[in-house]
Amino acid sequence: DRTIRQIAAGEVVERPASVVKELVENSLDAGASRVSVAVDAGGTEGVRVRDDGRGMTESEVQLAVEEHTTSKITDIGDLESGVGTLGFRGEALHTITAVSRTTVRTKPQGGEAGTELRVEGGEVTDVRPAGCPEGTVVEVKDLFYNTPARRKFLKTTATEFDHVNTVVTHYALANPDVAISLEHDDREVFATEGRGSLESTILSVYGREVAESMIRVDHEPEAEPIASVSGLVSHPETTRSTREYLSTFVNGRYVTARVLRESVLDAYGGQLASDRYPFAVLFVDLPADAIDVNVHPRKMEVRFDDESAVRDAVEEAVKSALLEEGL
Ligand code: ADP
Ligand code: MG
Repeated sequence: DRTIRQIAAGEVVERPASVVKELVENSLDAGASRVSVAVDAGGTEGVRVRDDGRGMTESEVQLAVEEHTTSKITDIGDLESGVGTLGFRGEALHTITAVSRTTVRTKPQGGEAGTELRVEGGEVTDVRPAGCPEGTVVEVKDLFYNTPARRKFLKTTATEFDHVNTVVTHYALANPDVAISLEHDDREVFATEGRGSLESTILSVYGREVAESMIRVDHEPEAEPIASVSGLVSHPETTRSTREYLSTFVNGRYVTARVLRESVLDAYGGQLASDRYPFAVLFVDLPADAIDVNVHPRKMEVRFDDESAVRDAVEEAVKSALLEEGL
């Protein structure tokens, strides 16, 4: 229990992007087919996430903002294996409401009444019936107003927005069947269609030039089926000067792993100009017992039991996709 508490307190809310991450995960967990994220001043002034998911009754939403509300976790063993559902700490909403002024408006699917709940610094200040559509809107304002030390660590609006954009982009890429949109200061940054195609999601997120340069990767390794690798990578001439556009997902979850980045780059061999990086959106699927997901979800790290097998599978997959294009 202490471990869970520590993870919850220290790890959930670091910056606006962590609020966005938790709220989007909740929306996806709620089975939403549409998730709209809107932030002001990089999220430092406000974060709003709206979904058309299953919604909550009045008593459910009251429970949701309390401490330790989840039923999904019973002991630390669950944490270690807890990669099935996205949320598994049952603390995110509580922690967010403890360091902000938050309003939740929610109505269950098919329900008659909606509820509006306000929380300030962890205290519920108002609960009332509200006319609202089915689904949930969570609006977080004045983040860290009561924890000035945290607030001081916030970077510029541009930097905070970059983090938000990165988070929402990864969820959009990982969930092509959900329409996910992002607005910054009332301007649309992107909006995916949610029709299930990775190609159209990339078009929405990265634009036409990148989308048209993408090459399909679809590879079941012949020898030992250790990892299947699929997705899209860009033509070696469509690059950027940062590694940021190398997105890798393991069993559907966004992860960063040096071995994945390196094996993609190795597959291009000498075809990339120096200090240039391709776009890649790659899904690596392995048996659950072949990976070790770090227990700190924010870190998004993963360790592979057989790293060199994963390296070979990814490199081979990307190489053969490039080869098929005569590259
Ligand atoms: P966890 O996701 O780990 O259970 P959270 O603190 O993120 O913990 O959320 C607490 C609970 O509130 C969830 O388990 C869920 O029942 C409910 N909840 C939160 N957000 C939503 C949402 N957008 N739609 C429906 N239910 C939600
Ligand atoms: Mg959650």
